Amino acid sequence: EVVTRFAPSPTGYLHIGGARTALFNWLYARGRGGKFLLRIEDTDRARSTPEATEAILKGLAWLGLDHDGEVISQFDRAPRHAEVARGLLDTGKAYKCFSTQEEIEGFREAARAGGKSTLFQSPWRDAAPATHPDAPYVIRLKTPQDGETVITDAVQGTVTIRNDQLDDMILLRSDGTPVYMLAVVVDDHDMGVTHVIRGDDHLNNAARQMGIYTAMGWPLPVYAHIPLIHGPDGKKLSKRHGALGADEYQKMGYPAAGMRNYLARLGWSHGDDEFFTDAQAKEWFDLDGIGRSPARFDFKKLENLCGQHIAIEEDAALLQEIEAYLAAAERTPLSETQRDGLARGMYCLKERAKSFPELLEKAEFVLTSRPISPDEKAAKALDAVSRGILAALTPQLQNASWTRDDLEAALNRFCEEQGTKFGKLAAPLRAALAGRAVTPSVFDMMLVLGRDESLARLGEAGA
Ligand code: GLU
Repeated sequence: EVVTRFAPSPTGYLHIGGARTALFNWLYARGRGGKFLLRIEDTDRARSTPEATEAILKGLAWLGLDHDGEVISQFDRAPRHAEVARGLLDTGKAYKCFSTQEEIEGFREAARAGGKSTLFQSPWRDAAPATHPDAPYVIRLKTPQDGETVITDAVQGTVTIRNDQLDDMILLRSDGTPVYMLAVVVDDHDMGVTHVIRGDDHLNNAARQMGIYTAMGWPLPVYAHIPLIHGPDGKKLSKRHGALGADEYQKMGYPAAGMRNYLARLGWSHGDDEFFTDAQAKEWFDLDGIGRSPARFDFKKLENLCGQHIAIEEDAALLQEIEAYLAAAERTPLSETQRDGLARGMYCLKERAKSFPELLEKAEFVLTSRPISPDEKAAKALDAVSRGILAALTPQLQNASWTRDDLEAALNRFCEEQGTKFGKLAAPLRAALAGRAVTPSVFDMMLVLGRDESLARLGEAGA
C-alpha cells in the first residue's frame, strides 16, 4: 500500500510551495488507493506556534486536501525517538560521545591548522564502554567511514555522497532530546510512509536520514525531491510574484479546484494537458512527470485555469464557495434575496469569470436593488431620447411570456416599429437594468431578474 505524508513545520502560514508539496502527496496517494498522512513537525518549540498549525490545517481544508487518520505531533513522539536512539546504542550502531564543546572546537582548529577535514571525529567512537565517564553525553550515529551513500531519487536521479563527507551525526542531545533528522526517520517509519515527496531543499538530509534507516535495518522509502517554485523572472519566488499563504489565494477569490489544477501543473506535467479535473489528476499523477528544473509561478495561467473551473462547476457548489470566499475576504455576506438572485443567475455568470470577485462584479445587476443608481457611463446612455424609447418599450413587454425567445421577438418587433437597431437599444437597456455599461447579456439579465423586477427597472429609467 502507498502511504505518503505532508510534514510541515508550524512556523507560519501554509505557503504556496508547501501547498504544492501537500497536493503532490495527496494526488499520489489518492490515485493509488493509498493513504495521505499529516504530521506537524513541531519539535522546534521556540518557532512552532498553535496558530501556525491552525493556519496550515485551514489552508489544507480550503484546498480540499483531506488527510487520513489523526494529525501526528512530532513533539509528542519524542520519547519514541529517544527509545530508537538508545536501541542503536545497544546494537553498537551508535555510541555515547562525551566530548565537550571546547574539545570539539579544539579539534576543528587543529584540523584547520593542519589543512585536514574539520568534520568532527569523536575519540569516543571506538572507546570501550568501561571507560565511559559519568558525565553528560550525546548519542552519535556510527556512520561508515568509507564507501558512499547513494540516494536513488525518483526526480533527481542518482545522487552520490561520499561517506567520509558525513560526520557521526548526533541523534540524541545531552539533554535527552532527539534531533530533527532522527524524528523524521522514526516517524516516517512508524507511520508506514512508503513515499517521501518533498522540496529538494531536503535532498541533502536524505543522505543522513538513509544512514539511520540502514542502522535500524528498516526499508527505505521512495524519495522524490521536487524543485522549488520560482517567480516568472526565474528568481526566488517573491511575495509580489505569488509567494503568499494559501489563505491569500482564497481571499483573492480563486476556486480551490482551479488552485489544485494550477498547483498540480506547477512542476508536474502530463503531456500537453493544462486543464483537468481532480479525477484526471489523481489518475494521471506520477513521479515521472515531475520536472527537474524549478517551476515558474504565473498568475495568468492560474487565472485562466480558475476561469475554466468556475465555468464547469455546479451552480450550487459555486454558490457555497462564493459565500465561503465572502467570509474569508471579510466582505458583506449575501442577503437571502441576493443569494436567490445569484443562484438564478449562476448559469450565465459563471461563464468568463476568472475569480469570485469578478463573478460578483458581473452579478452586480442581481445583487443590487431599486432604485438603480447608474454609474457615469450608464448615466450617459440614459439621455432624454433613450429614456423616451424605454418608456415606449415598457408597455410592449407587459405581455411577453418572459422566455428568451419571446423577449427576443418582442424587442425585435419594437426595433422595427421604431426604425432602430437593437444595438442602439442595448446600452440604455443595460443602464436601466443594471446601472452599468458592461453587463451580462440583456436577455440573461431580464430572465434572471424576472418580469416584475425588469419592468420596474425599465419603468423607473423610462420615467
Ligand atoms: N518539516 C519539513 C519542512 O517543513 C519537511 C520535512 C520532510 O518533509 O521530511 O520543510
